[in-house]
Amino acid sequence: MTRRRIVLLGPPGAGKGTQASRIAEHLAIPAISTGDLFRANISGGTELGRTVQEYTSRGALVPDSVTNAMVADRLTHQDVTDGFLLDGYPRNVAQVEELDTLLAARGQDVQVAVELTVDVDAVVARLLQRAQVEGREDDTEPVIRHRMDVYAEQTAPVAAVYAQRGLLVQVDGLGSVDEVTERLLAVLDQDA
Ligand code: ADP
Repeated sequence: MTRRRIVLLGPPGAGKGTQASRIAEHLAIPAISTGDLFRANISGGTELGRTVQEYTSRGALVPDSVTNAMVADRLTHQDVTDGFLLDGYPRNVAQVEELDTLLAARGQDVQVAVELTVDVDAVVARLLQRAQVEGREDDTEPVIRHRMDVYAEQTAPVAAVYAQRGLLVQVDGLGSVDEVTERLLAVLDQDA
């Protein structure tokens, strides 16, 4: 049985977004990216967007109260009943607990946490290149470095929590997009 309630972890630039949409399409589940949700609110000029931009633009985490409320709302949508892939959430240990609570209220839990591993120098180079293509305002070198630090300090412990639960699988994020997708699908097809 394929595991369908999935958390995708990995440092900025690891290719989470690209892989998340491929896996989600393959499994016919929604990919929920907190970064994308924030960016959509920012470009849509919503109140949430105005609140979060001061954090996202400098690569700081948006306060948990804001992020958790947004995810809680998203998880009430009908399309998540058969599974979901979370990309960019949970990003600190408090968010892990919030997600546990949200899911427990429906008798569910996270079935697998997949961490895409990559070399830091390689991803910084990748992000600087992406900056030229996509023009994301948080893809400047100092902000990228800060996002990496935030990842190491706050998000690496998230992987440790899932590892303790026996739910963490690490997947090498280096290689072609297709190769990485194949590795991820192979992992998700295995039972815990
Ligand atoms: P990346 O993984 O490349 O840093 P994302 O698109 O996942 O980019 O996130 C962009 C920004 O959105 C983060 O730097 C942060 O400011 C904010 N963000 C995204 N997810 C979360 C979260 N779970 N908690 C707090 N802030 C978040």
